[in-house]
Amino acid sequence: MEIRTRFAPSPTGYMHIGNLRTALYEFLIAKSQGGKFILRIEDTDQERYVEGATEIIYNTLKMTGLKHDEGPDIGGNYGPYIQSERMGMYLQYALQLVEKGEAYYCFCTKERLESLKVSNKEGDAFAKYDRHCLSLSKEEIQKNLDAGMPYVIRQKMPNEGTTTFHDVVYGDITVDNSELDDQILIKADGFPTYNFANVVDDHLMEITHVVRGSEYLSSTPKYNLLYDAFGWTAPEYVHLPPVMRDAHNKLSKRHGDKSFEDLVREGFLVEAIVNYIALLGWSPSDNQEIFSLDELIEKFTISGLSKSPSIFDIKKLTWMNGEYIKNMEFEKYFELVKPRLEEAVKTKTLDLRKIAALLQKRLETLNDIPRLVDFFDTLPEYGTELYIHKKMKTTEEIALTALKAAVPVIEGIDTWNEETIHDKLLALVAELGMKNGQLLWPVRTALSGEPTSPGGAIELADILGKEETLRRIAVGIEKLSK
Ligand code: GLU
Repeated sequence: MEIRTRFAPSPTGYMHIGNLRTALYEFLIAKSQGGKFILRIEDTDQERYVEGATEIIYNTLKMTGLKHDEGPDIGGNYGPYIQSERMGMYLQYALQLVEKGEAYYCFCTKERLESLKVSNKEGDAFAKYDRHCLSLSKEEIQKNLDAGMPYVIRQKMPNEGTTTFHDVVYGDITVDNSELDDQILIKADGFPTYNFANVVDDHLMEITHVVRGSEYLSSTPKYNLLYDAFGWTAPEYVHLPPVMRDAHNKLSKRHGDKSFEDLVREGFLVEAIVNYIALLGWSPSDNQEIFSLDELIEKFTISGLSKSPSIFDIKKLTWMNGEYIKNMEFEKYFELVKPRLEEAVKTKTLDLRKIAALLQKRLETLNDIPRLVDFFDTLPEYGTELYIHKKMKTTEEIALTALKAAVPVIEGIDTWNEETIHDKLLALVAELGMKNGQLLWPVRTALSGEPTSPGGAIELADILGKEETLRRIAVGIEKLSK
């Protein structure tokens, strides 16, 4: 049997990290077994409708490489793939259930339903439908229908006993049938409820694995009973624990947690985000942490999914992002950082490739770029304590001697490149009988005006050019002479 999974997002206007993780696992479950990954847009909740929101879904799938095999934008044999375009097809399925005695017409008025409401412990009003209309005779029903009375169609739940379903992550789950409400399948406007449409769609699209958030666990017995009522085979259920902000709270966009787009905007690489969220609920059989999407497809197994909620740790993602940047092939990396460098570095004569190369080992996110390259344009104000470095064995006096000695040597360099600068400065070290750091640290400090900088004295001098190097060293000498 071909594995078919579906990503069924509601177009909310952003991609929640938890949703992207669901999509990723659906993709991996399908692709690790040579199956199909389907996109279905669940847009029937018009109140939640946001302009442009479907584009965000398409874009996210494209950016992350979670390529779907069927969907609204590319078609397929099981369309339409947009729920609102399927609206006409559900009533006939509900009527099949009515026919089989698994569902029934309900003509109860709003007022009557209101009167059934009781309050639970939290004070929320809820009503379990009292099955008033279940006992209507065929004739009464027909009379009501002929009179044009508004109706809904309800699922008839078993009265007694229990319903058990198996979830791949959570194991067997059993509920008392007496807890299940005769839920509405078709609303008074003729349209299906989400719960009904979802089951019919999954069946018609031949979905084999339904992967979704654990908030749907409590509805699953009802879904299962629907499959049984139709005589359809229920899919494998794979419910995923929530992604948490901390030990007690779910990650929530409304509470300021970042969406996928936010992370991208903040300079995280798409590959690193995908890699990181793969590990939020799944672990490989070994300790590998860095995975390309292809490696994930190769290594992914459903048995690696866990039911313990994982905490979204931005520090870990930041670390991982840094690893991705470090390990990128230089040309690809340069393409990525170039626009940001062009914006951040105002001095147009500076060689951005060289700056990029210096940054590659140090960047954790692309947003670090402006902060790390600032000093190339303008030497910041700094205090002479920066020249004191224990490990380099420098003091302000040593720094002053070193910088003064460096000036004529640097002035004498005709061909300006890393090699010549290196050779001349190291020759000077030998001549002065100093340690390397006692010359190179002061020069680095004078050139950057920062306690740390991407690159050392030689690389910075090479990038800044002879004239600017000499000017900055003069500033250092002046500061140290005071
Ligand atoms: N449209 C639902 C959501 O976005 C999906 C639920 C499901 O996958 O069954 O939460």
